[in-house]
Amino acid sequence: MILAVAVALTAGVLAFVFLVRPEDLPPEEAPPPWAHLEERRDVLYDNLRDLNFEYGLGKLSDGDYAKAKATLQAELNKVNAELERMQAQAPSKPAKAAAPKQPPPPAAGTVCPHCGAKFDKPLKFCGECGKPMAGGAA
Ligand SMILES: [Zn+2]
Repeated sequence: MILAVAVALTAGVLAFVFLVRPEDLPPEEAPPPWAHLEERRDVLYDNLRDLNFEYGLGKLSDGDYAKAKATLQAELNKVNAELERMQAQAPSKPAKAAAPKQPPPPAAGTVCPHCGAKFDKPLKFCGECGKPMAGGAA
């Protein structure tokens, strides 16, 4: 009976997951790395609630109930501990994907448009090919 409930729950979760199309989700907000743990925790809470419900209906013996509950709670504790561990490690603010640091664009007149030579200071004429440098005082 518990297994049937778990399977039904899993099927429901899967159906929900597949019903949410990717384009419906905000693209820039990636789920936290512990999202799967939160899902797992929610499922376990659901299972516990169902278990209590069925026990309340008298469908379970005390022994079955205690055993199933202990199993679920043990897993729940594990998931919660892992969740706390991951969240404690994560930076307080969700770090944006670190953009590769771009070098500042070269100042006008420091790169020859003709031969590509680079210079520390802006020049009127290229020291390599002698042609006028763009961006300098023409
Ligand atoms: Zn040049």
